[in-house]
Amino acid sequence: MFVAYCFVIVMAKYYMPVGMRYSSLEERKQFYTSEFNLQDADQWFSVQQGKVKFAVIIGRHTKIYPEKYSEDASTTILVDEYSCLEDVRQQILEFLPEAVHYDRNVYDANGAKTGQELAFDLDPENITCPIHGTLEDKMKRRQGLSFCQLELQMVQKEAVDLFDFLSTRFSDVKAVYSGRGFHLHVMDPQTYRLNAQERLKLAQEVKSGGFHIDEWVTSGEMRLIRLPFSLNGLVSRIVLPLTKEELKSFNPIHDNRAVPKFLGG
Ligand SMILES: [Zn+2]
Repeated sequence: MFVAYCFVIVMAKYYMPVGMRYSSLEERKQFYTSEFNLQDADQWFSVQQGKVKFAVIIGRHTKIYPEKYSEDASTTILVDEYSCLEDVRQQILEFLPEAVHYDRNVYDANGAKTGQELAFDLDPENITCPIHGTLEDKMKRRQGLSFCQLELQMVQKEAVDLFDFLSTRFSDVKAVYSGRGFHLHVMDPQTYRLNAQERLKLAQEVKSGGFHIDEWVTSGEMRLIRLPFSLNGLVSRIVLPLTKEELKSFNPIHDNRAVPKFLGG
């Protein structure tokens, strides 16, 4: 009995690879004050038409939030009224969020949706790990967001393979390290106009190819995705676009481009 009891205690603990941890409010402030690269973030949107909507999540997973926002800590707050990206940065500094996203939907001048950027989300918790088991196993232990270095390596390998797969059909594929896993964005103009059924079909095709993607993201029901160059406050890593070659050899634990200054990056 004693052995079983210890096992439960150990396995119920939230775990992540060594060197990764939640960011404090002070660290988030430091990052968005002096490290967040507005020019690079702006560059990311050079393809997308129209005004981009942003969204912040203050403390849904980390439970770390400014006291005055305790009521809104878990909600998704839209940041769609701003004059320039510097203004967006100021609003981020007001909320000090654990996560910053942008809306993949594209809107016309009247605010009507005209399309959506196509994206694929690969997360390590969806990988079946030889040590930690399936996502179902992890959920049973309330470790749905936990992941280990092995799972991260496996999901990175999947990202490389999915990049190859998508490159056979599309010409403008971009990879992004999300902090926990990887995102693949397809920027080909015609993909913005895919309808819901076409997106779902593509998602199911990719899944049947053995890729552990989040179907919600590709089908378009989940329209928000992490903002490149923002801070992932769950793991204290910078969301980083990577070329295909970089994706192959990228080391999320040690790569200085992904490690914020407050962790020595
Ligand atoms: Zn594992």
